Amino acid sequence: MKHFVIVGAGQAGATLAETLRKRGFDGEITMIGEEAVPPYQRPPLSKGYLLGDMVLERLFLRPAAWYGDHNVTLLTNTDVTEINAAQRSVTLSNGETLRYDKLALATGAEPHRLPARIGGTLAGVYTVRSLADVDSMKSEFAPGRRVLIIGGGYIGLEAAAVAAKLGLKATLVEMASRILQRVAAKETSDYFRRLHSGHGVDLIEGVGVEALLGEGRITGARLADGREIEVDFAIVGVGVAPRIALAEAAGLEIENGIKTNAQAQTSDPHIYAAGDCASTPLNGAQVRIESVGNAIDQAQIAAVNMMGGAEAYTPKPWFWSDQFDVKLQIAGLNTGYDHVAVRGEGASVSHWYYMGNTLLAVDAMNDPRAYMVGKRLIEAGKSPAAEMVADVSIELKTIMAAG
Ligand SMILES: Cc1cc2nc3c(=O)[nH]c(=O)nc-3n(C[C@H](O)[C@H](O)[C@H](O)COP(=O)(O)OP(=O)(O)OC[C@H]3O[C@@H](n4cnc5c(N)ncnc54)[C@H](O)[C@@H]3O)c2cc1C
Repeated sequence: MKHFVIVGAGQAGATLAETLRKRGFDGEITMIGEEAVPPYQRPPLSKGYLLGDMVLERLFLRPAAWYGDHNVTLLTNTDVTEINAAQRSVTLSNGETLRYDKLALATGAEPHRLPARIGGTLAGVYTVRSLADVDSMKSEFAPGRRVLIIGGGYIGLEAAAVAAKLGLKATLVEMASRILQRVAAKETSDYFRRLHSGHGVDLIEGVGVEALLGEGRITGARLADGREIEVDFAIVGVGVAPRIALAEAAGLEIENGIKTNAQAQTSDPHIYAAGDCASTPLNGAQVRIESVGNAIDQAQIAAVNMMGGAEAYTPKPWFWSDQFDVKLQIAGLNTGYDHVAVRGEGASVSHWYYMGNTLLAVDAMNDPRAYMVGKRLIEAGKSPAAEMVADVSIELKTIMAAG
């Protein structure tokens, strides 16, 4: 009987196992995850779960019984420590060796941390990647306490919103000249700056954190402009790195993550990769898309191709973020944009990214219809004129038809 092994029990790993069974794979499946729990969704970790709005059971992607019912052997609390590609086997932290016919790497990403020499390892300094991370910081979220959030990307902003909602005093420090600089246009940064400032979050942009201060436990921070602030705890949200160590040690090609071709296959034909750890070809580059949608779609392609298929993965990027009462929905990838058309004003607004006349991406704030229309246009390769998009007297359905 064939044996497929999946390394990593997260969003991509769970989708791989599920797709293999759905598509009729009747061999053995072993999924190995280093965390203590079955696969769960990460987005609520910085949103509803952190806020206390969502119970633990709702985080899990499948009920615990699903794995046994589908004959998937799930090993939790277990690390894969080595891949022996020549022998087609993996070594586990419990000393066992498992042989595979096909291997899927779904190892995700790990958050960047601040170095110990600037206080990054003080007690009370957290990252937000795993359920264990969030469970360990939850008791810090008591009204009146002071939290420092380092990094103004989506996760940092979401954590700041939760903190403010729960009555904490949140200070967010972003080293770049504006929040969301790496991922969004100035217009989107401005929107979220207004939102956070309006809810009492103290946003400091264009200033780095020089050091976290404290003896054993954080009590404050010194900023690059010399300012010192007192805090009770800190959250570091300064991006992630793909988990490539296993693949690299096994001699797989690495390019912006574990390099895969359009079939989600790595440089070893028996090994596939999907999700945050993997890069895929798009427009002549190897791109890595850190999102649930990407993890699902790429894992589905990997599963089908592990069974002998030859399907190609065409990324259709989408993403969302919840902050205060705003739902941001993003379609497409804005890489290379040279101008932005703004549609609407106030709380419901959308930003449409163009490269020349080509529509690349849409950020829709509290405007699900603009998101849907933008997404459909981008996926169909259609580009309505930016002037038309910016004119709210022209209805979205007309824009859809004109694209
Ligand atoms: C706080 C937070 C909020 C987010 N919000 C959004 C959002 O709003 N929208 C969105 O689209 N995306 C969001 N994301 C991103 C999204 O969650 C990820 O893109 C997605 O989880 C990637 O899935 P994955 O399976 O590739 O990786 P992961 O879900 O990280 O799973 C990888 C798993 O592999 C395990 N592992 C790694 N190495 C080994 C090994 N050697 N042996 C055994 N196990 C191993 C890891 O412990 C982990 O459990 C968010 C992420 C975080 C952390």
